[in-house]
Amino acid sequence: MARTYNFSAGPAVLPEAVLAEAAQEMLDYQGSGMSVMEMSHRSGMFEGIVAAAEADLRALLSIPENYRVLFLQGGASQQFAMIPMNLMKSKKAAYIVSGEWSKKACEEGARFGEAVVVASSADRTFSYVPDCSDLSIPADADYLHFCENNTIYGTRFSRLPEPGGRPLVADMSSCFLSAPHAVEKYGLMYGGAQKNIGPAGVTIVIIREDLITSDCLPGTPTMLKYKTHADAASLYNTPPAYGIYICGKVFRWIMGMGGLSAMQAHNEKKAAILYDYLDESALFSGSVQEADRSLMNVCFRSTSPEVDARFIKEAKAAGLDNLKGYRTVGGMRASIYNAMPIAGVERLVEFMRDFEKGVPCTTTTA
Ligand SMILES: *Cc1c(COP(=O)(O)O)cnc(C)c1O
Repeated sequence: MARTYNFSAGPAVLPEAVLAEAAQEMLDYQGSGMSVMEMSHRSGMFEGIVAAAEADLRALLSIPENYRVLFLQGGASQQFAMIPMNLMKSKKAAYIVSGEWSKKACEEGARFGEAVVVASSADRTFSYVPDCSDLSIPADADYLHFCENNTIYGTRFSRLPEPGGRPLVADMSSCFLSAPHAVEKYGLMYGGAQKNIGPAGVTIVIIREDLITSDCLPGTPTMLKYKTHADAASLYNTPPAYGIYICGKVFRWIMGMGGLSAMQAHNEKKAAILYDYLDESALFSGSVQEADRSLMNVCFRSTSPEVDARFIKEAKAAGLDNLKGYRTVGGMRASIYNAMPIAGVERLVEFMRDFEKGVPCTTTTA
């Protein structure tokens, strides 16, 4: 069996131990004689899977009692609409625009009311995180939305923005469980599972109870109300059952790795290996402001798009896959989520060193 080092931004690498365990249980889950994929979501056995997944996630993140965990569908993109439909009661909300996804969230928010951009890093193509220590947020804004890790550009908020008493709403898609999160500082955090947690198809929402209300914007469909899913403990309709089961296994795997502080140390170590090399390399350079570098998505480039293309091709042939940057950004991006082993990053740096030695380097880095 040849497993490749998969640097995809999402769907992305999963822990090998989780995949092996799922394979072993594929035909017969714990004596049931069936796969979890074939199991009624109303069965006691499946209810046990959801309950365990939620309990383990609560333990990992020390989620306070007054927060609910929802396993939904529709991806982070659906949350861009669900959030205003459920929370934008005075038809106004504040948005920080620090990349493609937060821009999309803001544009979707503007369909339901006034989406006020209170900070942006669009002026330098999102290569940094805007200063959010002293935002002027309208007094009647219902929440402040931001994206904690910018998957496409490779930046992250290392300090939370100051929401001035309003609920802080965070797109955590590409940094969920990469480190401890102080859940009590957020009103709502959400993310698609396919970056750092599990297979595509599951969206996790952690929401403070007082934000779950029945007075959503007029016309909000039943399926898009948080209350519908909270009241039914994520079993209002058929949930993404198999995906939730895999997420549950990943939560267990993180516990086995020592929890979220250990995960953070592991991620910091991996990122440092790559960034340290980028800082010393004459061929490759990191694409973003140093203080704002993401631990999860490392964006870099060589001296020309032609060399980039050759690098991506040769890396793939060497078992280092999916290093191409986002289609509108170019360059390279190595996504090094929780499940990427240190050996994978070491192998990548070794390959980059060899590539650099073999490349006639005529221009200096920009
Ligand atoms: C991938 C991603 C999204 C989009 O997620 P979908 O699940 O495809 O809707 C949104 N926000 C961030 C930060 C992402 O990384």
